[in-house]
Amino acid sequence: MSESGPGRAESGRIAGEDEVVDLCSELIRIDTSNYGDHSGPGERAAAEYVAEKLADVGLAPEIFESHPGRASTVVRIEGEDRSRPGLLIHGHLDVVPANADDWSQNPFGGEVVDGCVWGRGAVDMKDMDAMTLAVIRDRVRSGRKPPRDVVLAFLADEEAGGTYGARHLVDNHPGLFEGVTEAIGEVGGFSFTVNENLRLYLVETAEKGMHWMRLTVDGTAGHGSMTNKDNAITELCEAVGRLGRHQFPVRLTKSVRGFLDELSDAFGVELDPEDMDETLARLGGIARMIGTTLRNTAAPTMLGAGYKVNVIPGQATAHVDGRFLPGYEEEFLADLDRVLGPRVKRETLHSDKALETDFDGSLVDAMRAALKAEDPISHTVPYMLSGGTDAKSFSDLGIRCFGFAPLQLPPELDFAGMFHGVDERVPVDGLTFGVRVLDHFLDNC
Ligand SMILES: [Zn+2]
Repeated sequence: MSESGPGRAESGRIAGEDEVVDLCSELIRIDTSNYGDHSGPGERAAAEYVAEKLADVGLAPEIFESHPGRASTVVRIEGEDRSRPGLLIHGHLDVVPANADDWSQNPFGGEVVDGCVWGRGAVDMKDMDAMTLAVIRDRVRSGRKPPRDVVLAFLADEEAGGTYGARHLVDNHPGLFEGVTEAIGEVGGFSFTVNENLRLYLVETAEKGMHWMRLTVDGTAGHGSMTNKDNAITELCEAVGRLGRHQFPVRLTKSVRGFLDELSDAFGVELDPEDMDETLARLGGIARMIGTTLRNTAAPTMLGAGYKVNVIPGQATAHVDGRFLPGYEEEFLADLDRVLGPRVKRETLHSDKALETDFDGSLVDAMRAALKAEDPISHTVPYMLSGGTDAKSFSDLGIRCFGFAPLQLPPELDFAGMFHGVDERVPVDGLTFGVRVLDHFLDNC
């Protein structure tokens, strides 16, 4: 890994650093709120903006509209060695909605205030979209080809499961990803500062899977004043109460094991996975992302039954958000049925797979080296995301997916709280850092 790749200025500064902030602000100003249906503004305007920025430097992007207004932009950049398998860099263009009244800045203003770019999508994930655009524009302009083919995909609809974005492209235009074997996207590559000698960068190597479920208990309907030993509400509530309080067993997958080993080294303590509360507390806000990757979880989220105070209804229902670890889906479902008991009928409304890949190989080496070049106290570690991303769709094409959207964060910023949160913002220094890291990464990918 050289200190400055070909085409880099003596200072190490690259042109992409100069425009990444404007690109991020301009993307934030294009409202792409995704309400989970087609009632929002859609991603078409953002997809066109991205396509223009790519065409501007001589690339030939294509826009794919899956439904009126729902659009993704894809472009392939030829690498030095076209016989090598390709690399996908993907980012989504949609954002979750924001209620402007709750914010201290306009969520769609993209203003730079106190050294940060503010707005919905600043960390999830117009930051990475802007970094990718800035780096690629700079490299194309200066004639620096990546070592192999790189496909860029700027996608619709990630925040609602990707049906009109990644899923649509994978199912209907798989040829776009021909020969691609590896990918980087959200949520990883961000920093956690341990002390002045050590900064961890968390690369996502695994994602939990999900089961969204409806639970139903059928009982005997009747008058509220009379004896009834078969009350559906009573039965359901007892089962939901048991489930809500149930602690699923700790199961360490290789990503979580790898993360805990690194954490143990970083803090110089032996970790007991059964008793992680204290250790997780040291992680500050990101503990919220890490804590639930030790075990399966099932959170009751909705309840429904009855229509009149003196009528015992014949049925009661509840909804549960279930998340399982890679390799533990069967155990999860068996545990659920055991805890719920025979009276409860369980239906899955929506499910998606869990993912896990090894934290090794030349692509991981390239990430590690790129971070090291820009941050000498960096230490790159694997981790599991408790949620899901478009990686689930791309994995269907046999693509090995990583979360690597490099950002150096000030220790005091509650990064996890930024995701879908109020006052979402990204440090300007984090963006320029990310551009430099991605540039190194593309030299060696
Ligand atoms: Zn996201």
